[in-house]
Amino acid sequence: MNYAEILEKIYNELEPTLGEGSVANYIPELGKVTPDQLGISVCTNEGDEYTIGNAERLFSIQSISKVFSFALAYKLEKENLWKRLGREPSGNRFDSLVLLENENGIPRNPFINAGALVVTDILLQHFDNPLDEVLSFVRSISGNPNIVINRNVQESEISCADRNYALAHFMKSYNNINSNVDHLIKTYSGLCAIEMTTVDLARSFRLFSTSGCNPWTHERVLTTSQNKRINAVMMTCGLYNAVGDFAYRVGIPAKSGVGGGIVGVIPNEMSIAVWSPALDETGNSLLGIKAMEMFTTLSEKSIY
Ligand code: GLN
Repeated sequence: MNYAEILEKIYNELEPTLGEGSVANYIPELGKVTPDQLGISVCTNEGDEYTIGNAERLFSIQSISKVFSFALAYKLEKENLWKRLGREPSGNRFDSLVLLENENGIPRNPFINAGALVVTDILLQHFDNPLDEVLSFVRSISGNPNIVINRNVQESEISCADRNYALAHFMKSYNNINSNVDHLIKTYSGLCAIEMTTVDLARSFRLFSTSGCNPWTHERVLTTSQNKRINAVMMTCGLYNAVGDFAYRVGIPAKSGVGGGIVGVIPNEMSIAVWSPALDETGNSLLGIKAMEMFTTLSEKSIY
């Protein structure tokens, strides 16, 4: 399989449409990103890497950080985690409040904002500084010690976090948030403001394509069962209310963020990360989904 040729084909086909969609501007700093960019990076489990376009440009990983936080919280809490969280798709926007009242403050899954706030709350119970813990986890699985948080993006998100504040206070009224809400939002926004490239992301997601082993040290980080379950939650909840369409078109577990990144896993084979900052109406990268769809179609690789 010639992955370099496949990436070239994808890039050439999508290049004329670069910039279609719109960048997330509800976080002012993200609104400043140039929309017409596309980067793709693939890492096979054998360690071969293929890239094209703006694959090495740093961008805000936003909700992709929810996978890293969830993996750490799941390692710590194991099945107890599910007392405070569900694992069903929500069918609603990522920042929706609508299901929480009927479901007693228990978020549908760890990848919508409400669920990620509960996960962050769990990390705050275990660690004095969860931002440092998540950063060192991400640095270790990506093999890049230089990954940092963009403090301007963090501040920018805090300045307009009314919906996330509402979610956190509402869940606190059901005793499903224990931390101080200001501290929680600051920590959550810091996690979302981690910056990585598609190369960093594809490398770090080899953790999930190699059944839970650190791709660099080969040390076991997750049990194979935990790894299967994290991939399953990505498959069913990773793209919010577009998850069914993504499964239909792309057919792999993946996670998106409003920074325009999407990173996915073909278990036991490879990881693939795409970035294109202009989004569709569900908050997912418009060209990113198309690139992923073309990759699994042309390579004939998916989990189905
Ligand atoms: N930081 C963003 C928010 O809370 C993350 C959303 C996303 O990437 N879908 O709104």
